Amino acid sequence: MTSAPDIPYGEAMRLALAEAVAAGERGEVPVGAVVLDAAGEVLAAAGNDRESAADPTGHAEVLALRAAARSRGSWRLDGCTLVVTLEPCTMCAGAAVLARVDRIVYGAVDVKGGAVGSLWDVVRDRRLNHRPEVVMGVMAEECAAILTTFFATRRIR
Ligand SMILES: [Zn+2]
Repeated sequence: MTSAPDIPYGEAMRLALAEAVAAGERGEVPVGAVVLDAAGEVLAAAGNDRESAADPTGHAEVLALRAAARSRGSWRLDGCTLVVTLEPCTMCAGAAVLARVDRIVYGAVDVKGGAVGSLWDVVRDRRLNHRPEVVMGVMAEECAAILTTFFATRRIR
């Protein structure tokens, strides 16, 4: 395995992975997200919280974006990077656009519901006036493996 510091956004993805694992241990689908500021400092980190919060919008990305905005004191997260273990869904891709993040970095591809290149490409729709840069496939194998293991052991889909 390549060590995280050698991979662009590897350190942040390691943190997102830790959030994902913690979410899985709480019985959540193991997805984790981190928001970095323009200097690469961590503004927020979160894991899925949909089950325990009984919140259909309790995805890691939304929670991390909310926490980052709170810590900044502004809903605008320009200059920031959203790092997430799984390709964002339509809601989270939309939230990232609304937060004006500069960049979305993700690990595993979600062919069944991904909205950042797979099923849809919400964030690079030319009709939008804000289009974040996308970096995909960062530590994709590790990110996918925790999901595969989770679903294999829990038999949920
Ligand atoms: Zn989502």
